[in-house]
Amino acid sequence: MTNSTPSDQKTAWTGQDSATLYGLDHWGEDYFTINTSGNIDISLKGKDGYHLDLKQLLDELKGRNLSPPLLLRFDDILEDRIKKLHHAFEQAINKYDYKNKYQGVFPIKCNQQRHVVEEVINIGRQWHLGLEAGSKAELLIALSLIDDPKAFLICNGYKDMRYIETAILARQLGRQPIVVIEQAEEVERIITASKTLGAPPLIGIRAKLSSQNNGRWGASTGENSKFGLSIPEILKTVNQLKSANLLDELILLHFHIGSQINDIAILKNALQEAGQIYVELSRLGAPMGHLDVGGGLGIDYDGSRTATPASTNYSLQNYANDVVATIQECCESNSTHVPTLISESGRSLSSHFSILIFNILGTSSVTTDIPTHTNNECLSVKNLRETLETLQNICKAKTIDITKVQEAWNDALKFKDDALAAFRLGFIDLTARATAEQLTWACAKKLINHIPNNLLIPEELQALNAALSATYYANISIFRSAPDTWAIEQLFPIMPIHRLNEKPSQLGHFADLTCDSDGKLARFIDNGKVKSLLELHPFHPGEDYLIGMFLGGAYQEVMGNLHNLFGTTNAVHIRLRKNGNYKLDHVVRGNTKGDVLYAMEHDSEQLLERLRITTESAIQKGSLKINDAQRLMDHIEISLRKSTYLQK
Ligand SMILES: *Cc1c(COP(=O)(O)O)cnc(C)c1O
Repeated sequence: MTNSTPSDQKTAWTGQDSATLYGLDHWGEDYFTINTSGNIDISLKGKDGYHLDLKQLLDELKGRNLSPPLLLRFDDILEDRIKKLHHAFEQAINKYDYKNKYQGVFPIKCNQQRHVVEEVINIGRQWHLGLEAGSKAELLIALSLIDDPKAFLICNGYKDMRYIETAILARQLGRQPIVVIEQAEEVERIITASKTLGAPPLIGIRAKLSSQNNGRWGASTGENSKFGLSIPEILKTVNQLKSANLLDELILLHFHIGSQINDIAILKNALQEAGQIYVELSRLGAPMGHLDVGGGLGIDYDGSRTATPASTNYSLQNYANDVVATIQECCESNSTHVPTLISESGRSLSSHFSILIFNILGTSSVTTDIPTHTNNECLSVKNLRETLETLQNICKAKTIDITKVQEAWNDALKFKDDALAAFRLGFIDLTARATAEQLTWACAKKLINHIPNNLLIPEELQALNAALSATYYANISIFRSAPDTWAIEQLFPIMPIHRLNEKPSQLGHFADLTCDSDGKLARFIDNGKVKSLLELHPFHPGEDYLIGMFLGGAYQEVMGNLHNLFGTTNAVHIRLRKNGNYKLDHVVRGNTKGDVLYAMEHDSEQLLERLRITTESAIQKGSLKINDAQRLMDHIEISLRKSTYLQK
């Protein structure tokens, strides 16, 4: 491999090599594969002929004036995820002969977009999939979208009087809202609201478990978490409900040990603890009947199947089995009827179906060409030329003497420093400094290309890779489209969606459009580890180079912000059809510049008028011609109506 030339690299490299390199085989869950053209294919297992070439789709979307950055939403994948979750619970219920059912809810906060929630409701109807609301605004969405009287509407989050009264009235509307008590004060409010309206709500209690999720979101559990009732508070609540004659409405126990549970052992502990609390609540006289295990069902972002932050050490089926078996065991040994099981799995349902596609605008990297000789080269340049020659000779030898290599490379670094010092003191000019730098990078390239990686000290290799790596300028704002990569260093699989039959010969990272040094993607999945550089293809100006960020369907959209006033991208809902065909269900237009200005209280009309007046005075002064003034006004008017991202 080390001696191959670019042309034979091209023929030797296959899509399978790319799939292995980017981990696609492990995190792609059969939804994403690489086709013979070297493009990513979207496919659905068990639905023959339903597949779609992602690059071809992007080309055709471009023809419809929908260019990257784009958010693609594959509702078939959303459907498949919902199906898989229900099938996993069906299997578990059959396996353990569990004498009750599973009936989940989708937590709206994962993705509140109307088209997404509507799809979830439509797809989930056959299983009476309900919704979980964590705020009053989310409650409004849930109330307006759920039309199935059997579906649950789990009311979480802190609740004031209006929230509680709305839930009570929704029950009379024929819905099944369950008001989950999260804070001790809410009990009194529920009692008062029930008296005022002469009708009670269905009631649940959120328990603060001592079992703690050690992942990134672990702070949502444990005795000091901000959510749920402690055991003494639960007992007090039961007594309060009893004396208000409301204990008959207490039908649910809820817990949530944080999102993205990495380690199944932690879930088991929580289930055992919650199972015991459930049994106790039944003994205290509450009808119960429902146990809500919250969210937390994780996603294997890097495909490593490990208990690390970007992964999980369990499958969907393992999860369902553990929920069913643990609760059954706990209830049976206490002669309690097993409850209807509810989960609030958001990340697991909504991550896969959405792909962010962005294009590369250009790249920058150090120049490694060997500069031509000039007369009177300075000493450091001469030394560097000699060092490069030495390295060339070392590399030609049959067996490479690594001590000599290291000596030569250290020399190169020293001579480069000498050149810098000489420049600072005014002894050499800009051209000489450039020559010295270029020669140093030529030495580095020689090393990378000709010395087998295993001969180099890992840190040295890393330093070389980093020095020779490229920055790929990406037409996105990570603050808008991938906020968790910045805020909590979350990893998502990121890879080119085409050219996958070609060996990616360049290491690089992505810089986004914002003027923020944090605006970059420089952490990539690496089978349970993290790497700072990704294998990419040389960028050819004038040709599309399209990159996909996968598994970002949960949380990224709503958490994104308007930093530097980059708005939402266009989003497209796609349904697969037979034989590689597809149907565009919805196109959700991204923010225009007018939209993002308005969000900051700037008025487009006022802005235009102000500029018009300025152009008039420039025309008066003679510094601007009338037709140029008009041209400027046209640019601004059109710009206000267009996307915030760069266009061809
Ligand atoms: C956020 C949240 C969820 C969703 O969690 P996921 O890990 O995305 O499944 C469910 N329930 C509650 C109470 C939450 O706060």
